[in-house]
Amino acid sequence: MAKENLSCSFCGRKKAETNILIAGLDAHICDRCIEQAHGIVLEEAKQESTSELSSELVLRKPKSIKSFLDEYVIGQDKTKKVMSVAVYNHYKRLLQPTTDDDIEIQKSNILMVGKTGTGKTLVAKTIARMLNVPLAIVDATVLTEAGYVGEDVETILTKLLAAADYNVEKAERGIVFIDEIDKIARKSDNPSITRDVSGEGVQQALLKLLEGTTVNVPPKGGRKHPDQKFIEVNTENILFIAGGAFDGIDRNISKRLNMQAVGYGASKEGESLDKDNMLKYIIPKDVKDYGLIPEIIGRLPVLTHMDPLDRATLKMILTEPKNAIIKQYEKLFEMDDIKFSITDGALEYIVDKALEYELGARGLRSLCEAILTEAMYEMPDGDEKELRVTKTYAEHKLNQSGISKLKTAS
Ligand code: ADP
Repeated sequence: MAKENLSCSFCGRKKAETNILIAGLDAHICDRCIEQAHGIVLEEAKQESTSELSSELVLRKPKSIKSFLDEYVIGQDKTKKVMSVAVYNHYKRLLQPTTDDDIEIQKSNILMVGKTGTGKTLVAKTIARMLNVPLAIVDATVLTEAGYVGEDVETILTKLLAAADYNVEKAERGIVFIDEIDKIARKSDNPSITRDVSGEGVQQALLKLLEGTTVNVPPKGGRKHPDQKFIEVNTENILFIAGGAFDGIDRNISKRLNMQAVGYGASKEGESLDKDNMLKYIIPKDVKDYGLIPEIIGRLPVLTHMDPLDRATLKMILTEPKNAIIKQYEKLFEMDDIKFSITDGALEYIVDKALEYELGARGLRSLCEAILTEAMYEMPDGDEKELRVTKTYAEHKLNQSGISKLKTAS
């Protein structure tokens, strides 16, 4: 056949109508058909990996999510319930095939308000573990607006990508936990003339991520490697959980409630306020008054609080969760064939000290370490095969360790 008579065997275009016509054994294909075929191949591959991911994603019903959380997180029932529903809805939205009706299920990003050491990070970690999705934990305090010293908001996604082993689709279904979100609150109600680089500016930058957008992410983070290729990440299906202590917000809440009580809604009979836990009355307005911009609050529609940890809860945290601190020590000693036990009195003593030093659950571990370090140092070489920690033992070791310094360090 004369060269000019050749045509694409797929679309029939003549050679003159194509940019390139590639010859096979006894057929030809033009550049356009190659591109189209390539598109089909990519689409197929994507669908395959999506369904693979869907089967990897273990979606449980809210009650089952809650009981999984129960194994690791003590107390915090309200938050566990709220989170279970939010997480269930989020992943339901994500696994649902797109339908023709106009009902678009919106994201259920979550805002957790509670003192430090009450389990906010633990809840996020436990949920990510249960769902088998990547989790990035970032600290809002290091974020700044693009162009300023600090980390750009995009680095959040760099961390998520790393947690997902650079599998973009996996990252796009992951969870981001933004800690200390209260630290980027607007400093005052009056927009300042000097730019609020680490406050409102960062909130604005976060907005887009929260609502869902495509971001060019530098894979290893930062502007410091300008020649790096960017990876495109879509945040539409990423679940964002923000947490913060919002120090002093309880005062605002009680002020608001007292004002209400004076006004027309005067206290309903039999309803007395739980003064030790004002956070449980939190509403979005309180968070707004604290300095989060309304747009951010709107994009974190699920608002929940963490209860303060009381004696009983702290004691349970020592022994009950699946990976409770005491269970961990038991295991560590067991590896040296040492039988470890601790008396109830010693547990009570540790809880007392944690409360006294205002260390919350975070302090339980430091206290245990201080009490047990010497035994863990000496016993593996010795003949003694049993360690029984009593209150007297704990008291003695703690005094030796000088842990009272923790009080000022906290
Ligand atoms: P936060 O993020 O609220 O500051 P974390 O989740 O980091 O607190 O908690 C600090 C440590 O205290 C965790 O390692 C966890 O073991 C323990 N902890 C805190 N709250 C709880 C809880 N409700 N149940 C079990 N452990 C808890």
